[in-house]
Amino acid sequence: MGIHSEYSCSDCEFKLVDSSNIFWIDSEKKIHVDMQTVKSSKKASDALSSGGIYKYYCYSCDNYIYNFHISRKSRSIQKEEIIQLIENLDDNIKIIDFDNRFQNCIYCRKDVPLKLEKSFAIDNKGDFFIEDSLYNDFDNKQFDFAGKYYGYYCKDCGKQINKFVILENNANLEDSLIREILEDHTNDLTVYINDSYSPCPICGDELQILGESSICPKCRVGVLNIENQTLFD
Ligand SMILES: [Zn+2]
Ligand SMILES: [Zn+2]
Ligand SMILES: [Zn+2]
Repeated sequence: MGIHSEYSCSDCEFKLVDSSNIFWIDSEKKIHVDMQTVKSSKKASDALSSGGIYKYYCYSCDNYIYNFHISRKSRSIQKEEIIQLIENLDDNIKIIDFDNRFQNCIYCRKDVPLKLEKSFAIDNKGDFFIEDSLYNDFDNKQFDFAGKYYGYYCKDCGKQINKFVILENNANLEDSLIREILEDHTNDLTVYINDSYSPCPICGDELQILGESSICPKCRVGVLNIENQTLFD
């Protein structure tokens, strides 16, 4: 099911339209972008690769940034090909990333299958919590940082790959400190990604999602209000 929203500024004539878009790459390696509907989702699930498109705005350099997040990929298309097709789609500024589930072997570079997926968190006493649930739901305790653990095994190399992805960094710890703490809890930390903050690719400042009650990007005085919202499938 998709959602289409129209916003207008309380102080100037600025308008913003936003809809939940997806993309997919068909068997002829053509890329398609469409609103998320039952029909387009079906096409996306049969495609060589697909994912969601998320729109961000940077108040510092006044740019809209489109995040193409690849969540599905078949073995018959390479990551580099997918990136190239998305880059060539239009002139928009893009962040192209693959879902954290995807991983290449750090020794032979082959795609490795995901074996284990868990949530983890570390509290302010340094205690480590790990759970099978897909969500970070540790009785609503306050944690220094939390995220996902992904475990892989490359048969060809006979190597285990442990990946930690930080999704929340409540204590604002430095990367090096997080890495050190994680290393205390795992024998071989092989991949570490900090995903809690995604900077603007142009100026490096923080990206925002524009929506209800965001400061107007044009006059910077008024706020955005929903004028119209449609759900469709
Ligand atoms: Zn390998
Ligand atoms: Zn920027
Ligand atoms: Zn305005």
